[in-house]
Amino acid sequence: MSSALERMSDFDLNDDQRQVRKFVKEFAEKEILPHVEEYEREEKYPLDLIQKLGPLGLMGPMIPEEYGGSFSDVVSYGIICEELARIDWVVASAVSVANSLAASSILNFGTDEQKQRWLPGIASGATLCSALLTEPGGGTDLGNMASTATKVDGGYRLTGTKVFISHAAYAGLFFCVASMDLSKKHKGVTAFLIDPHNTEGITMSDFPMRTLKRDNLAEVHMDNAFVPDEALLGKEGAGFPVLGAALDTGRFSVAARCVGQAQRCLDLAIPYAMERKAFGQPIGEFQMIQQKISDMVCRTEQARLLVYRLGRMKDAGIGRASLESSLAKLNASQAAVQNALDGMQVFGGYSCTEEYEIGRLLLEAKSLEFGEGTSELHNRLIAEFALGIRKQ
Ligand SMILES: Cc1cc2nc3c(=O)[nH]c(=O)nc-3n(C[C@H](O)[C@H](O)[C@H](O)COP(=O)(O)OP(=O)(O)OC[C@H]3O[C@@H](n4cnc5c(N)ncnc54)[C@H](O)[C@@H]3O)c2cc1C
Repeated sequence: MSSALERMSDFDLNDDQRQVRKFVKEFAEKEILPHVEEYEREEKYPLDLIQKLGPLGLMGPMIPEEYGGSFSDVVSYGIICEELARIDWVVASAVSVANSLAASSILNFGTDEQKQRWLPGIASGATLCSALLTEPGGGTDLGNMASTATKVDGGYRLTGTKVFISHAAYAGLFFCVASMDLSKKHKGVTAFLIDPHNTEGITMSDFPMRTLKRDNLAEVHMDNAFVPDEALLGKEGAGFPVLGAALDTGRFSVAARCVGQAQRCLDLAIPYAMERKAFGQPIGEFQMIQQKISDMVCRTEQARLLVYRLGRMKDAGIGRASLESSLAKLNASQAAVQNALDGMQVFGGYSCTEEYEIGRLLLEAKSLEFGEGTSELHNRLIAEFALGIRKQ
């Protein structure tokens, strides 16, 4: 990256945040990057790479020190997600699911016992997390979920199927939602913290993907699975606010990851444009290629500014910032996709070969346009805020 671009990406970070970026960037390039393509080809989950994060304090950036975490500020958390995602979708996802969805929900809604039980393991990296939200019937309309939870003596019985579940085979904690009363739609939704290794009635099968084969996505089946009373997170029927808060932070970290991916496309396209020659000159000297590079820079910086602003709002104590989360997530995920497309065009036919990473980034970026709210959902939310239909 040229020094002018570097200046833009961190002009208003403090020294600690700059240090975080430098540290994570160097770590990811040295320890993770050399393995990503190989793991993708071998369809190997990067457990060994993820295990390197805990001792460095990178598994608990949203968890306070008293629970073994390394929380300093939300912007730093975003930078960690951004720099990890610049190199590997899956490693960044492990941090983002664990912190934004699981740990933040426990911190916001958990009992003292739940905090003591789960947070130290998440922060150390001993407990990986999965979020069990999406169902075969749909992921966008979560108020219409079909999974059920029934109160029984000493706990609850859960039944239903969850699909697209990242990290499931390696997770020691499932953050799961199920309905206690389907007729009440979102008011029946209830959140649970499940120990998958000690819960009878939970089985998993492979959820075959065309991309991200190294993520080993799973379909999780709950067949009358018994969880004890202590598994309830928040109150019965009050899972939607838990989910809303989790997704608010989740959208921040996913948006930060998208900025990292958009940046990676630029990092790859710039040197290629200056090396590859056509008609006797580097293709980077042709205006149409320059237009693509310029568009990629503009998108990345716009997205980054929206993400950092959102982080600063959260650091300033604004717990829920739904409009700004949607703006950041929509903008950043579209920037990542469009940068991957433009980046591929810069690489020409070579973007489709195994030799170059850029082609892999397209489908990975596209998948981030679905997770934590699709673009259509965010467009709808943004419009509803603008029209005054939605207030919070
Ligand atoms: C790589 C990857 C990893 C994932 N990991 C996880 C995970 O770990 N845990 C988990 O729970 N889920 C996970 N997901 C699932 C993801 O969250 C869902 O794909 C997403 O929520 C969308 O749900 P859906 O695919 O069922 O699409 P649907 O909800 O069926 O939507 C299909 C289309 O209809 C559009 N649509 C729906 N409603 C409206 C509306 N009101 N107005 C306009 N358009 C609308 C959507 O925007 C979308 O374009 C993952 C997905 C991928 C690709």
